Amino acid sequence: MIAEIIAVGSELLTPFRQDTNSLYLTAQLNSLGVEVEFKTIVGDRLRDIVRVTSTALSRADVLFFSGGLGPTEDDLTREAVAETLGLGLRRDAEILESIERRFAERGWKMSANNAKQADVINGATVLRNDQGTAPGQWISGKANGEEKIIVLLPGPPHELKSLFESSVLERLRARVPKQVLASRVLKITGMGESACDARVAPIYKRYPDVSTTILAVPGEIQLHVSTRTQSAEAAEERLDKLVGDIEGELGDYVYSDNGDSLEQIVNYYLQMRNATIAVAESCTGGLVAERLTSITGSSRSFIGGAVVYSDALKTHLADVPADVIDVYGAVSEPVARALAEGIRKRCGCTLGLGITGVAGPTGGTAEKPVGLVFHALAGEHGTQVVKRNFAGDRARVRWFASQQALDMVRRKLM
Ligand code: ATP
Repeated sequence: MIAEIIAVGSELLTPFRQDTNSLYLTAQLNSLGVEVEFKTIVGDRLRDIVRVTSTALSRADVLFFSGGLGPTEDDLTREAVAETLGLGLRRDAEILESIERRFAERGWKMSANNAKQADVINGATVLRNDQGTAPGQWISGKANGEEKIIVLLPGPPHELKSLFESSVLERLRARVPKQVLASRVLKITGMGESACDARVAPIYKRYPDVSTTILAVPGEIQLHVSTRTQSAEAAEERLDKLVGDIEGELGDYVYSDNGDSLEQIVNYYLQMRNATIAVAESCTGGLVAERLTSITGSSRSFIGGAVVYSDALKTHLADVPADVIDVYGAVSEPVARALAEGIRKRCGCTLGLGITGVAGPTGGTAEKPVGLVFHALAGEHGTQVVKRNFAGDRARVRWFASQQALDMVRRKLM
């Protein structure tokens, strides 16, 4: 079964309002085993809505409309769908009365244009809207000789969700072939998107029944894999096998196969190893500490640390010898090493993390360009330092640096 979602509203074609209803509807439809193959956003013009409705009817079995059911002149979804299907509209006395009652209960006078919210497409089932005035509508029947389901839902997200859950979900479940959708998200860090794709693409090819999406977000790659079968066991078994193959290929680069974030994984390893950590951060300004402390229960392993932006504070709070800074500069391998070792000793913990770099956009030199970051991790058996050159703006460089630092901790504790 193929679905299309049509978000109606000229405001959704401006930079100020985003279509989020379709994300919610897609998640709901996917959980029923219905694939969304098309999404359309269309402004409030009758001619345009008719055009997209007609196109959607030619390529999808289930059409979901969001918005354009209100009382104003430009709320035209009902009219457009009726016109495309060649059906008339009738004014429903019961809905009209309930709208009038809603106004009366609030002591308001109902203006005449509200009456159009009681217009129902001939043959449609009315879906009661407890959260607002415009009801939804469910139409099922043949169009161009093919069985179609068309659902009209109001635009305000809380109304759409409530109506979907109360009146659409079970109706739709009864109509779709029984299928189970299982999905997994693998997260990978320390590797570029194309390198990752080149290594996993041959594996995907062996699983034509599994749909795969590769998604690059700053500092990591996500592989979304999903499959649908008749039984949950069969679907899970199939994904277990695929995930096993991918992990076998990518090894340590995969840090999570259950959707956990990098900070969650690091926190998990810290606790598993009974380890504690402190940080001395310069260019990341506390970002690593922020990410680690965003995890509940992190107080058992995260001791604290210092944001040591100035040279003086690097010495004062993390015991970096002033002459090391003088000789090598604040952004250097020896300073990163001294930050990690100094903070580890000061805080008396298992691990010490030191980060120093040039976040930009100013402050770079030929020798030490913007994006250059040194990360050091000190432990009982020595200190490891990683030098990286990150591309991008200040926010990106800082985020990548925090990602690299957390990944060093993960790899050390694995
Ligand atoms: P109303 O009776 O409130 O007029 P409606 O069904 O006509 O409902 P719209 O007027 O199209 O809906 O939208 C109402 C509000 O709902 C919009 O201002 C917007 O905030 C929100 N909205 C509409 N469509 C979407 C969408 N696709 N995603 C997220 N929000 C939306």
